[in-house]
Amino acid sequence: MSIPRTLRPAEHGLQVSSVSKGARKIIEELKSKGFQAELVGGCVRDLLLNKIPKDFDVATNATPEQVRQVFARSRIIGRRFRIVHVRMGREVIEVSTYRASSESIDLKADDDSSYSASGRILRDNVFGSRDQDVFRRDFTINALYYDTELNTVTDYVDGFSDVKKQVLQFIGDPARRIEEDPVRMLRIARFKSKLDLFVDPACEALCRECAYLLRQVPPARLFDEILKLFHSGFAVRVFLELRSMGLFSELFPEADRVFNSSDIDPDSGIVFKGLENTDRRIDEGKPVIAAFLFAVLLWRCVSRRLRLSELEKPVSLMQMHHAAIDVLGRQVQRVAIPRRISTVVMDIWDMQVRLEARRPRTIKRLLEHKRFRAGYDFLLLRSQAGEVKTEIADWWTQIQEVNDEQAILMIQALTGPKSQSKRRRRPRKRQPRRPSE
Ligand code: ATP
Ligand code: MG
Repeated sequence: MSIPRTLRPAEHGLQVSSVSKGARKIIEELKSKGFQAELVGGCVRDLLLNKIPKDFDVATNATPEQVRQVFARSRIIGRRFRIVHVRMGREVIEVSTYRASSESIDLKADDDSSYSASGRILRDNVFGSRDQDVFRRDFTINALYYDTELNTVTDYVDGFSDVKKQVLQFIGDPARRIEEDPVRMLRIARFKSKLDLFVDPACEALCRECAYLLRQVPPARLFDEILKLFHSGFAVRVFLELRSMGLFSELFPEADRVFNSSDIDPDSGIVFKGLENTDRRIDEGKPVIAAFLFAVLLWRCVSRRLRLSELEKPVSLMQMHHAAIDVLGRQVQRVAIPRRISTVVMDIWDMQVRLEARRPRTIKRLLEHKRFRAGYDFLLLRSQAGEVKTEIADWWTQIQEVNDEQAILMIQALTGPKSQSKRRRRPRKRQPRRPSE
């Protein structure tokens, strides 16, 4: 067993006051009941890197049931990995019980942890001590324990020096750690992009070799990871990392196959521009929706299927619908997309047909459609990429800015002289009455 080092974080600019009140209170409460408790993971890492942590995670030797008893406003969640969500005011803090390391799990015959045939951890609910817990964490920089009462950081794996050097490396044998949980490869792409860390090229090469292991990960878990990856505020960098590590093609196989160089062109590519747009919105504190992300990443699959670039004639809504169902149906085999999200993706794509057609009678309804904004933003991306005439995109921009009378004039101007001439309707044939009527 390795001997941990104790550091004085204040000497490295880490202030207890930067820690959320809720997290401090939880640690205080657990310790007052005789348990061990400290902050762990990304929050300690981020504070040492002078970044604002996304959330605060607490580790303890109290079991989930014991944590539940200490905090009235708490609930146990997760199956694969049971933790407790404790509510403190508006904050929700994750409290996890120390786990036994994978090595010690192997030695136990009747435990609650199980591995798949390929070595993937299916459940990880064998509790242990902190000395064991540290070795089942993924990276050295994620394995620092910060006691906010004593104001000390405990470091077993030289994580602190890796934080200072901005190096991301696995605890233990990388190949084994990836086999245990292939999602760790995605975590590399995320932390590397978000925190600007150095990753050993040998480790990246290993990820390329092991990328196929992502196929064993449940699609629902991959959906959660995709959102963490692309809604991190660094979607463009994440995308490039995933591609260079050979991971993107495992997550979005069809999209990866059909992307052409213009899609990923940094100046005008729809994928690039879409991801940039997401990063900008996050930076400005604006909301982002998962559907827009999937609409961007999978658009080329749809447009290829419809041969949009070759057709002179616009496609019908029915054709768009069929193509969308086909593309999404294949995609969910790798990454689950909940129905509430896939219906919005389809709305955004449908909207492309409607917005391009600019049928005078439908304009008002379209402007009031609850997906208009997302559809319009998507149209702008396509117009920047040269897929839609600028004139059409500008028209939609303008109609949102003018007053009602001007809007009516704009709509009237769409109606060319041909369609203005009244077509004579043939009178409807009357249905013969049935004898019983
Ligand atoms: P962030 O919250 O900024 O995304 P994080 O490192 O805190 O980053 P979490 O998913 O919140 O990530 O996990 C908290 C901690 O739990 C991690 O720092 C790590 O120690 C451990 N952990 C999370 N996922 C894994 C995993 N798949 N394998 C091993 N350890 C993990
Ligand atoms: Mg975290």
